[in-house]
Amino acid sequence: MEFFGHVIDGEEAESQDGARFDTVDPWTRQAWGQVALASPDDVERAVAAARRAFDDGPWPRMGHAERGRILHRLADLVEEHKRELGMADTRDMGKPVAQSSGNDVGRSADNLRFFADHAKLAAADTLPMDSGHHAYSVYGPAGVAAAIAPWNFPLMLETWKVAPALAWGNTVVLKPAEDSPASATMLARLAIEAGLPPGVLNVVHGYGPQSAGQALTESAGIDRVTFTGASSTGRSIARIAGGNLVPVSLELGGKGANVVFADAELGNAVDWSVRAIFTNAGQVCLAGSRLYVQREVYDEFLDRFVAAAEAMVVGDPSEPETRLGPLASQSHYEKVRGYIETIESEGGRIRTGGLGSGWVVRPTVVTDMPQDAPHCREEIFGPLVTVTPFDTEADAIALANDTPYGLNAMLFTENLSRAHRVSGMLRAGTVWVNCFFIRDLRAPFGGVGASGLGREGGEFSRDFFTEPKAVVMQIDRG
Ligand code: NAD
Repeated sequence: MEFFGHVIDGEEAESQDGARFDTVDPWTRQAWGQVALASPDDVERAVAAARRAFDDGPWPRMGHAERGRILHRLADLVEEHKRELGMADTRDMGKPVAQSSGNDVGRSADNLRFFADHAKLAAADTLPMDSGHHAYSVYGPAGVAAAIAPWNFPLMLETWKVAPALAWGNTVVLKPAEDSPASATMLARLAIEAGLPPGVLNVVHGYGPQSAGQALTESAGIDRVTFTGASSTGRSIARIAGGNLVPVSLELGGKGANVVFADAELGNAVDWSVRAIFTNAGQVCLAGSRLYVQREVYDEFLDRFVAAAEAMVVGDPSEPETRLGPLASQSHYEKVRGYIETIESEGGRIRTGGLGSGWVVRPTVVTDMPQDAPHCREEIFGPLVTVTPFDTEADAIALANDTPYGLNAMLFTENLSRAHRVSGMLRAGTVWVNCFFIRDLRAPFGGVGASGLGREGGEFSRDFFTEPKAVVMQIDRG
């Protein structure tokens, strides 16, 4: 079995007490690797290494150009190792290798390249004053950033945090999810190869509460917490960080509405709607798990949508043609199974799908579900979508906004005015019109309500990972 250690101060390391845990392949349901399990002391060792690297090391003092060169080298190495990195995520959490080695590794390299370049190019403000003074802003690094990541897009979301933190001159302690630890250690190994100085990117492994995640959040040595995960975890982390006056960025859960108007191009709407809910077996914070379809096209859309769901290749995620693999872990499978088994008792009707073999849940389409049922209100994080008809634009907006979450929404229409009008009225951090999952890394990313706190991306990441400073100087004594 392969071993994945912590990476502390430029060295891969066991825990001080030698503790380890298994990482399980959800397709074979067998352990495929062993992982170091951090105690609070191990976490403190990593934070101390990051602190030293920040206080005394070269990284924060290097110019953006030199840091950028190293981050681009790391992006090159990530691309060179795309097969191994992708397979690590596939074996850890079951996503099809076509996605992990393709989209996810590609976006991970893009994250590193984009933030390296953005830090170099991002404008600072110069504020000429008319009183004989002149003001300008400086974006200096904040210090040690704690990055806590979920298991659904392991490498992609880790680099989404690590890349801007590093590009702006911070040092990092990354804690990947316990269900997807391998690619984080591999990334840190590559970072050493790329020339990142020791202590700049540290990785510690372990669980959340009463374990590495909590110890990292509580550490007195950190200056920022960037977290992606469940809304309930976000609340606990915010409480602790608030007590320490440490700024937090929280990217949390979602219950995305996907609204298909009768004037939509139906083929395009079906295609994106299938991707919106069944990509990564629905284990996507942005999933379009509530589908609302205007009544005039409801029957036709549903027939085509069900046919497309049934055409998906379900099975072994290491096969290149597979489009939907198992859920990430036994505990997550049990959770989703609970929702599948209560569809009919809650009033819903299964049009296709249900439980598969092992920890697989097939693409599942449900109609007739009351809007107050848990299936329409709670984040299931599985390949299950409820489809509901609506009559008017106002009805669609009311249904879409009837959720405590507000991460994203999708709408499909060929009417330009409606596209703008409805986008403006949806309560969500991102609205996709006639598409899904397309990202511009300069744009704000984050959620409203239970979906998060703050935004990341482009200048939003700069503002979070730096301590902006105003310098005001006298230039003319008059
Ligand atoms: P989770 O909250 O259980 O775990 C996420 C990470 O937090 C893991 O590394 C875990 O070990 C750690 N953690 C758990 N409890 C902790 C605590 N008390 N203190 C510190 N760390 C702790 O979430 P998950 O099950 O891994 O991920 C699924 C959730 O993530 C879903 O709700 C999903 O919507 C959300 N998510 C959001 C986004 C986004 O960008 N908004 C992206 C992906 C996933």
